[in-house]
Amino acid sequence: MKNNKILLVELLFAVLSIWVLCYVSGNPETAIVALRIYVLVLLVITVGLVFALQYYQRMHSSVDMDRICDMVRGVNAPAFIWTSDLSTLYTNQAMDELLGISESEEIGDSAVLLGRLFHSMRLNPRNAAESLEGKIYDSALRGRDGNKRYISWNTALLKQNKNGALYFSIGFETTELEEAKQSLTAYAKDLSESQNRYALSMKLSGIGILLCQTIHDEYYVSDEAMEFLGITENKISFTAFRKKLHPDDVVVFDNYLNKVRGKGGKNEGEEEEHYSRPRMMELRIRSAVGKPYVWYAYHYHDNLQTTSGSPIVGGALIDITSEKRKDATIEKLAYLDEVTEIANRNKLIHDGEENYRICKTMQTSCWIIAVDIDRFHIVNDTCGYDKGDVILRDFAHVLCKYAASGGFAARVSADNFVLVLHDYSDYGDEDLPIRTMERIRNDFAKLSTGVFSSLALSCSAGFARMPRDGESFTEVLEHAEFALAMGRGELSYMMGYDANMHREIVGQSELEKELANAIAERQLCLYYQPKVSLATGKIMGAEALIRWIKPDGTMVSPNVFIPIAERTGQISEISRFVLWEACQHNAIWQRIQLTPIVISINYASGDFYQKNVCENIREVLLRTDMDAKWLELELTERLALGDINYAVQQMNALREMGIQLAMDDFGTGYSSLSYIQQLPLTLLKLDRSFIIEIETDTVAQEIVSAVIRIAKSMNIETIAEGVEFPKQAEILREMGCDYAQGYLYGKPVPEMEFQKLLEYNTFGRLT
Ligand code: C2E
Ligand code: MG
Ligand code: MG
Repeated sequence: MKNNKILLVELLFAVLSIWVLCYVSGNPETAIVALRIYVLVLLVITVGLVFALQYYQRMHSSVDMDRICDMVRGVNAPAFIWTSDLSTLYTNQAMDELLGISESEEIGDSAVLLGRLFHSMRLNPRNAAESLEGKIYDSALRGRDGNKRYISWNTALLKQNKNGALYFSIGFETTELEEAKQSLTAYAKDLSESQNRYALSMKLSGIGILLCQTIHDEYYVSDEAMEFLGITENKISFTAFRKKLHPDDVVVFDNYLNKVRGKGGKNEGEEEEHYSRPRMMELRIRSAVGKPYVWYAYHYHDNLQTTSGSPIVGGALIDITSEKRKDATIEKLAYLDEVTEIANRNKLIHDGEENYRICKTMQTSCWIIAVDIDRFHIVNDTCGYDKGDVILRDFAHVLCKYAASGGFAARVSADNFVLVLHDYSDYGDEDLPIRTMERIRNDFAKLSTGVFSSLALSCSAGFARMPRDGESFTEVLEHAEFALAMGRGELSYMMGYDANMHREIVGQSELEKELANAIAERQLCLYYQPKVSLATGKIMGAEALIRWIKPDGTMVSPNVFIPIAERTGQISEISRFVLWEACQHNAIWQRIQLTPIVISINYASGDFYQKNVCENIREVLLRTDMDAKWLELELTERLALGDINYAVQQMNALREMGIQLAMDDFGTGYSSLSYIQQLPLTLLKLDRSFIIEIETDTVAQEIVSAVIRIAKSMNIETIAEGVEFPKQAEILREMGCDYAQGYLYGKPVPEMEFQKLLEYNTFGRLT
């Protein structure tokens, strides 16, 4: 169409030229000049037009601008056509919208527009093609609405000649993509930061992770856990893991594996929700052979459901060595006795309750033996606390020796120990505590001769059977301690618990209270039993025997209340009373000119170890004006079994004062004659048990005869207790026994009655 227009212009020009030619033809020369000028001008114009046409055609003819514009218009993306001189020829509607330009508006400076779009390019006509052609350029621009939009420009060369080039740029909006990319970058940054934080916190917290899919046979191991396990790969097979465990923990781990493998990670009968709860096991793991074991707590899930659907088994491995150490220290402080380093009362109660439960469920039984070292306070008083501690430790060792095979020993207080023994017999071995205690006593006695040659150590025990003898461990223990206390009262070193004991104990505690009143209200009095010379038949002495006559007239036997008084400490008061009364009476009898006799009083072992024994007695003798030689103390074998050095020292002091010393009930205890030999005794009282059998039992006869003989050789006089029949007296006299005491000569009688006996003894008649 543009070509047609040019031809039309040329045609018009030709017509005009002919007209001018005709007009001036009146002058041919001028017309020729004009024609030449015309031809020249026409030539110049034609050449110019041809060039212009060629240029125009070059610019526009080969590219159908209209078609291109139509095409660009139809593109639903921002697009524009521009020339290499950076002038914009055409922008489509989408482009206008992008730039926020209305149809009526001018684009403005096209170089500025291109500069806005390709701002980082520093475009100029020379580098436009090189910079943009066939390339993708991303630009961000802000529309008039202020929103930032991201466009990816694609530029193609439409035409190029030596004068310049024509370009077509089309943009694809990547705002959403860009925003997504940006948030993805931000997210990736966050993720990497969070991963770093996670890695750091894992490192700082020292938590290792062990995970496995239930079907697999190996663990995935985190970096920290790799360090714990001493491995360089981030996985370890169960077998290799197992080898790193302490032998004692392998069973725990195997149970766990069985659960995980055998049941696909599910416990039979377990509820689903219960099942997914975290669990914990403590394991000792070493990183390599030769390295020490380290304690770890493994907090794990048997079946942790993941979002992917496949369950995971595993959890966190935490080093708990320091906690374990602290636990051990706390346990040591809380559960170990400082002196003996065996279990203390807390541990006894704790483990005892556990044992009680086991006994109940397994239908087995245990013996609980409460053991007490006899006269331990004397050991402490006389040997010092250091030696006392040595004895406690040695005794604990002996107990532990017999506590083997499932039992244990504990020290519950000063010299009170408890031994827990398992009874493995099917029938219930009732003799087990007695057999064991005999061995313990033997070991203890040997030990004492080794360490303290002068000290004969012994112990007493009470025992009860668990679970038979109580509703709980503490109750069984209390019953064993009851039995021990009861045994002490009856001078027995070993006593088993019997439900009937309760009645006696209740009775005893009642009696204890009554006894306190009895002393204060002077319900106690002395009876005297004569001691006669077997040679002359004359009374040469009397034993003062205490009586408790209640206000209602009933009499309580000293065999009942003396052991209680010994246990409660009331015996000291009783002994003071007896000493005072007996000395007073004897002094009166001497003052009224009756044949002087030796008055004997029973002296409890507890009193004998008091520091001021001699002073007290001296004072009483002084105040009653009685010569010491008329006083005799009856001591028991139990007393002599204490600290023999101290006993001998005390006895010597008494002997120096002139006081007589008798060994009461000789033959009932465990002291031998050679042992007695060390004591400064003046009289040996043969126990009634020998005398009862002396008529019939030749062995008893031989023993009594030998004792009398040996005593004589030691300058110790002998007296027989409980002589009831003349025949007995006869045999004893023949054996050389010096004196006799018993119902044959008179029962214990009140003071006035005894005085009558003495009068008869003196004057041969009653005054
Ligand atoms: P014991 O010192 O051996 O006293 C002898 C016991 O034998 C007395 O019992 C006496 O009554 C009893 N007896 C004496 N002759 C015969 C006899 O021929 N046949 C029988 N069957 N028994 C006889 P009693 O008075 O009941 O005293 C028992 C024990 O109580 C005493 O034994 C003594 O150990 C203790 N006792 C008594 N009085 C006192 C006291 O004042 N202080 C202390 N610490 N203990 C005392
Ligand atoms: Mg006596
Ligand atoms: Mg006696």
